[in-house]
Amino acid sequence: MDLRDLVPEWIRSLEPYPPGMPIEELERRLGIRDSIKLASNENPLGPSPKAVAAVAGALANLHRYPDGSAFHLKRRLAERLGVSSEHILVGNGSNEILELVARTFLRPGDEAVMADQAFVVYRLLARAVGAVPRPVPLRGHTHDLEAMAAAVTPQTRVVFVANPNNPTGTIVGRAAWEAFLGRLPRHLVVVADDAYAEYVTDPDYPNSITMRGDGSVAVVALRTFSKLYGLAGLRVGYAVADPVLIEVLGRIRQPFNVNALALVAASAALDDDEHVRRTLELNGAGMACLVEGVQRLGLSHVPSQANFLLVRVGEGKRVYEALLHRGVIVRPMDAYGFPEHVRVTVGLPEENRRFLEALDAVLAGVAGAGRRGAVTG
Ligand code: PMP
Repeated sequence: MDLRDLVPEWIRSLEPYPPGMPIEELERRLGIRDSIKLASNENPLGPSPKAVAAVAGALANLHRYPDGSAFHLKRRLAERLGVSSEHILVGNGSNEILELVARTFLRPGDEAVMADQAFVVYRLLARAVGAVPRPVPLRGHTHDLEAMAAAVTPQTRVVFVANPNNPTGTIVGRAAWEAFLGRLPRHLVVVADDAYAEYVTDPDYPNSITMRGDGSVAVVALRTFSKLYGLAGLRVGYAVADPVLIEVLGRIRQPFNVNALALVAASAALDDDEHVRRTLELNGAGMACLVEGVQRLGLSHVPSQANFLLVRVGEGKRVYEALLHRGVIVRPMDAYGFPEHVRVTVGLPEENRRFLEALDAVLAGVAGAGRRGAVTG
């Protein structure tokens, strides 16, 4: 018997999510040291020191199960966001909540609409439950909300919108967001995946927590502690939505989906204004440095509102591999449909400099392919 025959067709054909390469793996593979990772949009400053202290203080209680209701964290979030705790669901990263949405609302054969070049997890999760992804091309590297609304059919149950989008860093503005919500039928759930919301400086950015429409369309807004708050390793994210949606999503989550250390760390990080301020300052300066640097190298990029930059380098995979040999991990973008680009996360000042120097050397080595390719575009 072939064990694969036990697996439903839609799982058999799934390609697993390709995560960014960990530093340890690179150094083991190539026998190098002092590598830097600018591949997973993490906070280069590290975690909030207040969160680290809270975790240390909670270690003695690891024999206890966590508070499965996330009572304190939800209360703190509710106060901040001007909603009630019933509007909030806390998850093992916002990734878990994306999965809960897929498992709650999609049946085999249903359709899910997403941008063609957005966070690849959306289509993966849709397919994992036997649903059919309906990818819609970006327009000008940005979600084409009109085309996405037009792609909705009576079978569509979920629409995913990443705002800012990963990997382009672009946003949809308030008017487009409002018009989109106004156009959608009532039989679906819109996921506003705002993992990078806190980095946005454009005043036209719609806050999907407050701009959830007039109630005629179900909107689930997602945020995370993995980026701004520097807690990617602990896995905490949350959803804000109508209490009816939060309640049904909660039915299929595991009773202790968020661990005890993650809960205390997230609460502490929320209060760490100094860490947030320093993170945003570092990101603003680092983004300016990267943009200036890639322009100096003759490369084009997509202007970004997030903590990463999509840069057109020519043969993305080759440039990625060559950067690895220089101890710099970025993200190749072929899985995202951008084979000529790499995505680089804004790092510490010395990391940004090192990336730019390595990129310069690599492009010289790849016979200028990147520069020529980029400039023609
Ligand atoms: N949404 C987007 C758009 C992302 O880029 C990411 C992380 N790469 C996530 C969701 C998931 O984040 P987490 O599970 O760490 O909260």
